[in-house]
Amino acid sequence: MENQRTIAAVSTPQAPGGIGIVRISGSDARQVADLVFRSKSGKRIAELKGYRALFGAVYTGNGEKLDDVVALFFASPRSYTGEDVVELSCHGGLYVTKRLLQEVLAAGAVPAGPGEFTRRAFLNGKMDLTQAESVMQLIGASGEQAARAAEAASSGVLSRKIGRVRQALLGLSAHLAAWADFPEEEVPEVEEGELTGGLHKAEEELSDLLAGFDTGRAYREGLKTVIAGRPNAGKSTLMNLLSGCERSIVTEYAGTTRDVVEDTVLLGGVPLRLADTAGIRETEDPVESIGVAAAKERLKTAQLVLAVFDSSQELSSEDRELMDSLKGIPAVAVVNKTDLPAKLEDSVIRNNFRHVAYLSASSGEGLESLKKEVSEILDIEHFDPADGVLSTERQRQDANRALKAVKEALEALKLGLTYDAVTVCVEDAISALSSLIGERVSDEIIDQVFEEFCVGK
Ligand code: GDP
Repeated sequence: MENQRTIAAVSTPQAPGGIGIVRISGSDARQVADLVFRSKSGKRIAELKGYRALFGAVYTGNGEKLDDVVALFFASPRSYTGEDVVELSCHGGLYVTKRLLQEVLAAGAVPAGPGEFTRRAFLNGKMDLTQAESVMQLIGASGEQAARAAEAASSGVLSRKIGRVRQALLGLSAHLAAWADFPEEEVPEVEEGELTGGLHKAEEELSDLLAGFDTGRAYREGLKTVIAGRPNAGKSTLMNLLSGCERSIVTEYAGTTRDVVEDTVLLGGVPLRLADTAGIRETEDPVESIGVAAAKERLKTAQLVLAVFDSSQELSSEDRELMDSLKGIPAVAVVNKTDLPAKLEDSVIRNNFRHVAYLSASSGEGLESLKKEVSEILDIEHFDPADGVLSTERQRQDANRALKAVKEALEALKLGLTYDAVTVCVEDAISALSSLIGERVSDEIIDQVFEEFCVGK
């Protein structure tokens, strides 16, 4: 365990609340706390065993009582940071927690930097880097699925998954090394089938992990979604239906939605970052053409397009133009106004889209079918956030590097290269996975990870 200075910070939000907690961590945590805290019973925190609490009060340097406080002691190594930790819980006023922290710092602790408690937990081997990152995501999670994913990662599901792949590759690498180093010994020859099989399995598992990254990100950040369609198809009405309230101007005249309006809505648990755009229509109107240009621009970068068609009208050239511009973009066709007599030939739509939802945006009838199509397109049915998902760009890059190296190893085998060449690739993959869980990473990377944390965590 590293011998570091004892740190302290307010660990509860900087807002009024029922209780506020000042957390102190380090080898002097108890001595520091005993300087500001006096228990009712007269017992000192230094006399406590781990997981014990004392009730008492905190006094300022000149002897004035600041607040009633419960002191909790967690003994090293069985604490969050792995060091001795004391938590002082006071009443949650901003002033009181701030004053309490000042007293603790005056008693000898130094202010904790952003994420420093979690950083110490990582350095003391209490968690790996993916777990530390998920602590931060758990704090920031707003949706249930994102929180479940972060919880799973924080409890080590992701680490174990990565660990299994790494272990399997280490096995292959050890076998290859033993066979290459001691050819005259009784090391059984490496079976090419076994090697290929092991590598294919690693390839599959890493590919799965990487595929989950995109879905996980959709849950965390929302999908950039564009509602497109010709004027009057019902885009604004659909947007309002999804938002559950009036957000953009709806009128009976074609071409009145001029600017791009953004809004985040939850559809079947997935946050969609929606942009309602003016219809995709060539126009002379200078005001509207800004909207149209913006719509076309946005289609290019959309992660999901809801293409709205008016089922009470025949298919127009604009509708066809929209269909053409959606090639290769994940899109759900929304056949709208199903409450009106149908004039639209929906076979054309079906031929152009794998996902088609029928609904009436004005009444909300059929919204379920849209939810179903959206979750299918994202393959949400097969996504279980509790299964362990990669969740940061850093993690994705390392997993990608590992996958690339495994593929190169397979390629080397296929080309009949020497086992030395294969070994180099396998070792590359292992090193990428080590870096993924935070073994053998540079201080710079560790700094980057913890920079984004808040103080007190
Ligand atoms: P936008 O130009 O694509 O944004 O279309 P709007 O949302 O402004 O809708 C155009 C017109 O169609 C409005 O009068 C809406 O009330 C109407 N409308 C939209 N959805 C429906 C629907 O499902 N059924 C019916 N009957 N009318 C609808």
